[in-house]
Amino acid sequence: MFQQLKAHKAHDLHFKYDPASGLKAIIAIHDTRKGPALGGCRFIHYNSADDAINDALRLAKGMSYKAVMANLPQGGGKSVIMKPNGHFNRQELFTAFGHFVEELNGRYITSIDSGTSAIEMDIISQQTKHVTSTSHEDNPSIYTSQGVFEGIKAAVKSKFNQSNLTGITVAVQGLGNVGYPLVQALHHGGARLVITDINAEQLNHVATEFNAKAVPPDEIYGVECDVFSPCGLGGIVNNHTIQQFKCQVIAGSANNQLATAEDGLRLFERGILYAPDYVINGGGLIYAAMHHVDKPDEEIAKKTAEIANTLSEIFSASISQNMPSSEVADRIAQQRLYDESI
Ligand code: NAD
Repeated sequence: MFQQLKAHKAHDLHFKYDPASGLKAIIAIHDTRKGPALGGCRFIHYNSADDAINDALRLAKGMSYKAVMANLPQGGGKSVIMKPNGHFNRQELFTAFGHFVEELNGRYITSIDSGTSAIEMDIISQQTKHVTSTSHEDNPSIYTSQGVFEGIKAAVKSKFNQSNLTGITVAVQGLGNVGYPLVQALHHGGARLVITDINAEQLNHVATEFNAKAVPPDEIYGVECDVFSPCGLGGIVNNHTIQQFKCQVIAGSANNQLATAEDGLRLFERGILYAPDYVINGGGLIYAAMHHVDKPDEEIAKKTAEIANTLSEIFSASISQNMPSSEVADRIAQQRLYDESI
C-alpha cells in the first residue's frame, strides 16, 4: 500500500465500509499543500479493491496536476465508490458517503465524475458542505467545453498560424456533456465538423443540428482533419491509433488521452501537436473550485480563458526545447508541485 502511495507521491488514502448501506468507498488525497483536495466521486463497478485503489490514486494525482496548471489554490483528490453488484439504495449509499466526506473535515471536496451527477451531490450535501456540482450550481461541463474550445483555437494558432477556425476541420469523438456544447461552439466558430458517438441517436441528432458529417466510432481516428478532439474516453492515443491519425492537432476533453507517456513522444515525432489533457480540460475544475468559494463569474471566466495562454506557452516551449508538449506540461506541473527543477 505504501509503495503505491510513494509511486504516486500521494499523501493519504481513506477507506470506508458502512455495513448498513453496503458502502465501500475510498478517498485518495494526493496533495493538499496548495489547498484542500478537490476531485470527483466515481461510482462504477470494479473487479477488485486493488483496482479501485489504483484508480483513486491515479485520478487524484491527475487532479493535482490539473489544479496546479490552472494556478488554483487547490490540491488533488478523488474518491471512488465500488458499485455493488446486487441491489443497493442510492440514497443510503450516498448519505453514508456524505458522512465519510464530512469526517475529513474539508481536506477533501467532492464533485461529480463517471456514474455520479447533481442528484448524488445533492444527497451528499445533506451531510457535508464539502461538495460541489449540486443542482444549485451550473454543470461544470459547460466550462470544460469553453476551455477546450479556446484551447483548440490556441493549438490552431500555434500549428497553422491562424487566429480563427474558419475552414478548419475538427473531428470530435464523443457528443456528451462536453462534446455537445463543444460541437455547437465549433460550428458557430466556422469549423467544419466530423463527429462520432457510440450512441447512434445522439450522433444523428447532432449531425443534423450542426450540419456535421457523422462517421462510425471506429472510423474517427483515420478521418482527414486538422484537429482530432477526443471527448469520449481515455487511452485513445495509443500504438494502434497513432498510425491512423491524419490530423495535425489533438485537443479534446477526455482524461488520460495518452495510453502511455511514450505516446506523447510518438505524436511529437509524427509532428502532431498535442494539447495536454489535464491543461485543456481544466475548465470544469476551475468553475467548481472558484464557485465553491463564491468567486464572481467574471473571475471564473478570466481564469478559464487563461487555459489558452498556458497552452500557448507549452506549445512554444515544446518547439524551442524540441520536447513533446506532454513532457513540457509534466515538467511544469512537477516543478510547481514538488519544486523540481526543469
Ligand atoms: P459524457 O459521458 O457526458 O459523454 C461522453 C460521450 O462519449 C457519450 O456521448 C458517449 O456515448 C461517447 N462515447 C463513449 N465511448 C465512445 C467511443 N468509443 N466512441 C465514440 N463515442 C464514445 O462525458 P463528458 O462529461 O462529456 O466527458 C467526456 C470526457 O471528458 C471524459 O473522458 C471525461 O472524463 C472528460 N472530462 C470531462 C469533464 C467535464 O466537465 N464533464 C472535465 C474534465 C474531463
